[in-house]
Amino acid sequence: MLNLRICSFLFILSGWVGLYALPVSEKLSATVIGTEKSVDYSNNQESTTVNTRDNAFDGKLNTFFASFIRTGGWVGLDLGEPFVITKIAWCPRAAQPARLKLGVFEGANHPDFGDAVPLHMITQTPPENTMTEQTVNVSKGFRYVRYVGPNDVRCNVAELAFYGYRGEGDLSQLNPVADLPAVVIHTVNAADIVEKDVYLKGIVSFIAADGTEIYTDSTEIKGRGNASWLFDKKPYRLKLFKKTHVFGLPANAKNWTLINNWGDKTLMRNLLAFDLSKRLELRYTPAGMPVNVFLNGEYKGCYQLCDQIEVGDERVDIKEMEEEDITLPQLSGGYLLEIDAYANTEISWFNSQRGVPVTVKYPKDDEITPEQYNYIRSHFNTMENVLFSSGYKNPETGYRKYMDMETFIRHFLTGELSGNTDTYWSVYMYKDRGEDMFRFGPVWDFDLAFENDRRTYPINLNPAWIYASTGSSAGSARNMINRLFADEAFVRQLKAVYADYRDRGVLTEEALLGVIDDYAQLLDKSQQLNFMRWGILNLSVHQNPKTYGSYAGEVENVKNFVKNRLAWMDNKLGYVPKTEDPEDPEDPEDPEDPATLAGETETSGISVVSRENAIRIEGISRPIRIDIVDVTGRIVFAKNVYSDVLVPSGKGLFIVVITESDGKRKTLKCTVF
Ligand code: CA
Repeated sequence: MLNLRICSFLFILSGWVGLYALPVSEKLSATVIGTEKSVDYSNNQESTTVNTRDNAFDGKLNTFFASFIRTGGWVGLDLGEPFVITKIAWCPRAAQPARLKLGVFEGANHPDFGDAVPLHMITQTPPENTMTEQTVNVSKGFRYVRYVGPNDVRCNVAELAFYGYRGEGDLSQLNPVADLPAVVIHTVNAADIVEKDVYLKGIVSFIAADGTEIYTDSTEIKGRGNASWLFDKKPYRLKLFKKTHVFGLPANAKNWTLINNWGDKTLMRNLLAFDLSKRLELRYTPAGMPVNVFLNGEYKGCYQLCDQIEVGDERVDIKEMEEEDITLPQLSGGYLLEIDAYANTEISWFNSQRGVPVTVKYPKDDEITPEQYNYIRSHFNTMENVLFSSGYKNPETGYRKYMDMETFIRHFLTGELSGNTDTYWSVYMYKDRGEDMFRFGPVWDFDLAFENDRRTYPINLNPAWIYASTGSSAGSARNMINRLFADEAFVRQLKAVYADYRDRGVLTEEALLGVIDDYAQLLDKSQQLNFMRWGILNLSVHQNPKTYGSYAGEVENVKNFVKNRLAWMDNKLGYVPKTEDPEDPEDPEDPEDPATLAGETETSGISVVSRENAIRIEGISRPIRIDIVDVTGRIVFAKNVYSDVLVPSGKGLFIVVITESDGKRKTLKCTVF
């Protein structure tokens, strides 16, 4: 605290000194740089004499620069040495003022603008025949400054002006342009990213939402995704030179993804699903945050910066494999798999015995040994064989030996609550060293969820689960889930887990709608820019069942869906909200405790059932403590348990105390006849 105070005092002091020493800004004139080839509109031919870049700095509003290239054209100044820019001004080509909308001003210290950061973006159509001025609040000095025309307009700028003062400046204040953090990428020679398999080299800067922090590194970047790669707004994968916690996110990693949200006009569906995954306490939920993306000086829109799904700390945290791990027990893990409808486009994949396509994500394509590949393929088939065997319900030797229900159920609930058609066409699962079980997750790819898929619209009018409602069962995990539903113990556990989250107030209409409202507010400025860049609000894209004509309309649709889905889930899973106990339920001495029942009673999805000379406690899907005493005070049972238990008790009246991990207690009475 003391240091902080001294720091802020010095900061204020230096601010004052700086203020007194601040040089006066001047209009800067220097060497004009920029795209060489212009267009001669009289014949639409390439030119070096008509509409050239010099026109942008000739002081005349009736001459303009028009680049021959339709996208990526730019014009600026080489100031000879760094200047801190304090003001910029622009005037559009006569009769074409809208062509400056989404034009970006940048500053750099390398002539190729590889290290450039934004100074400003024009977001409104400017008036004609006049200079529009804009103050710039960026503390860094730049030798090179420029204006980059937006997509498909050949710059079309009549006049530009930069104002500033000589100086290196500092990195204390940058401009992320809109309210969100910015990811600013420049590739070598401003090459466009047109492939999913070839990395391009470049530089990336991550600028905090308030502009007070910047992290810059070399990067490699390529395209990614399956269906999402085919859209105009492309998804990308970044591989940084150094591991880092980008924007303070949990993983210290090189690999990050930029999700494009093309068909998802709320720009938040993945984030809402990640929120569900966190509420349901899946072991790992991918990090995701909304950002604005700039590529080679062009505004690309609102994206989600997300984890790459990979093995590592704060990601899928399982044992890492070495090349020499080819005998048991080392051979047993870890592995990361994906049941994947697109598996046959990958290098390391297999079809299971029952025709389920599976991609081996880890160990990686170029690192996995034949022994490892064969082991995990065989283990997957073993799981499948057991699941489809006659004795599959056996809690010890059946499917539960190979499939972890704790994570499966939470993964399932996330997919169903969000109404995600894609869920069982892409299921991530992992197997760690030294255990037989596959665990499920992380959840991923919710572009088509939350009522955004015409093939399943309207989801809540369909009495069937979403997993069972689309296409054929081939190529998906559908048959596997059907098999689970044929096991009444699975259904009971599913209901109990769901009821627990409902009872505890984790999954409520208020909470889930609140998250949507919060994101809508956070995204408001960025969504306006995004749909200025991509005018698709009135177009049906990807699998959109409907268009709502506005961002607010799209958000309202998701809110209505979530509200109705929760009611649908309650109905489907037979959930009845508990009525509040008027007496103190924590008082074990309370003789009027209405939870007192002979036979069966229930708390937080947990049932206490009397059996012959025994008490059975069912529906346990989380660690809890159970204490059972008889009427004389004799301790019959006192243990932490993780799954259902049968406690031999003898006949009589027993008090059962259930203690949750957060300390909350329920006391029940049980009579065993
Ligand atoms: Ca001019």
